[in-house]
Amino acid sequence: MNIPFSPPFVDQDVIDEVVNTLETGWITTGPKVKALEIETAKLVEVNNVLCVNSATSALMLILHWYGIGSGDEVIVPAYTYSATALAVMHVGAIPIMVDIENDFNISVQKIKAAITSRTKAIMPVDIAGWPCNYNEINSLVNDSEIKKLFTPKGVNQENLGRILVLSDAAHSIGAKYYGKQSGTLTDISVFSYHAVKNVTTAEGGAICLNLPEPFDNAEVYKTLRLWSLNGQTKDAYTKTQAGGWRYDIVYPGFKINMPDVCAAIGLAQIKKYTQQLLVERRRVFEAYNKLFSEKDWAILPPFETEYIKSSYHLYALRINSITESERDGMMYEIAKTGVSVNVHFIPMPMLSVFKNMGYDIKEYPNSYANYSREISLPIYPQLTQEQIEFIVLSTEQAFKQIKIF
Ligand SMILES: *Cc1c(COP(=O)(O)O)cnc(C)c1O
Repeated sequence: MNIPFSPPFVDQDVIDEVVNTLETGWITTGPKVKALEIETAKLVEVNNVLCVNSATSALMLILHWYGIGSGDEVIVPAYTYSATALAVMHVGAIPIMVDIENDFNISVQKIKAAITSRTKAIMPVDIAGWPCNYNEINSLVNDSEIKKLFTPKGVNQENLGRILVLSDAAHSIGAKYYGKQSGTLTDISVFSYHAVKNVTTAEGGAICLNLPEPFDNAEVYKTLRLWSLNGQTKDAYTKTQAGGWRYDIVYPGFKINMPDVCAAIGLAQIKKYTQQLLVERRRVFEAYNKLFSEKDWAILPPFETEYIKSSYHLYALRINSITESERDGMMYEIAKTGVSVNVHFIPMPMLSVFKNMGYDIKEYPNSYANYSREISLPIYPQLTQEQIEFIVLSTEQAFKQIKIF
């Protein structure tokens, strides 16, 4: 049975919305992007959402907006997709990697130990769609001793007066934490609308603004929008309106706006996300849990508690008492049955660019321990019960094969 890892959800509504965009004759930033921003804002229950061309550029834009640059430090988990740290490096700052807990998410104890007077931001990552311990992270940055260490540079840092919490919520659209939606849990959150994510625009990212007083989030939205389009006072769409040709460039901005033809895909998806797509993802997650809970060699990923709900982005299965090479062997056996599996994630200190900078996986034992036993199984709305049972059977057979030989 051939089962892909993460095909995009493309139904007739998605196709119709894209075709409609093509037929209007307007394919780059315009009404579809605006509509997607509004739908995202409604879902998240936040007032200001800006869409750009990727989560990576969204993170860079925010770090730049907060005045972060050369010599500054930003705390990130060692266990994430590299974009989290690369965004920090792209603005000239230093990613300070810390280890994780057994829910795959950044350790608050380790964050605390890593804070210095150079720390400007913390970027927690909701791995697999499971929200981080935001109650503790938010109280940590507001702690008076920690605030005393903070040395502001520029007006935004002065206004906030503390470390910025910028969540890399690439995985967690639709997740809930103590009655609140992911996207409202920190100062600023960034979703990814990349092709493999829960909602996709092929490539894209969404910035949810939730800054406290004295910030005016609507004003911040306007600034960021300007900075996402060359610092140009009018976008191409506005310029097409009668008499609208004259513009000014008022800031050396980036060129990271989202095109309408991409937004159309996400627009059709997000309208059925909460009621349908997220429900279907939960169905798959729960079906796996039910089948794997009977196997003593399987460790189930975090799912939900009374107060926290995942967005069911990944099914990060872990295998008890298995080595990294045994895990690799299992993946090979599973792949032979036609089931595509993956690992989320190779800890950043194991990748060349970071190794060459001096990061060493030995300093992140819990990242390694979770990585070396992890296999991500397919999870998406289109999966049938029959396919799920086949995947579980393939996984079990692979485990037996590896453990017997
Ligand atoms: C996918 C992903 C990103 C990057 O998203 P893009 O939209 O592709 O830039 C960032 N962080 C994490 C954890 C991701 O999984």
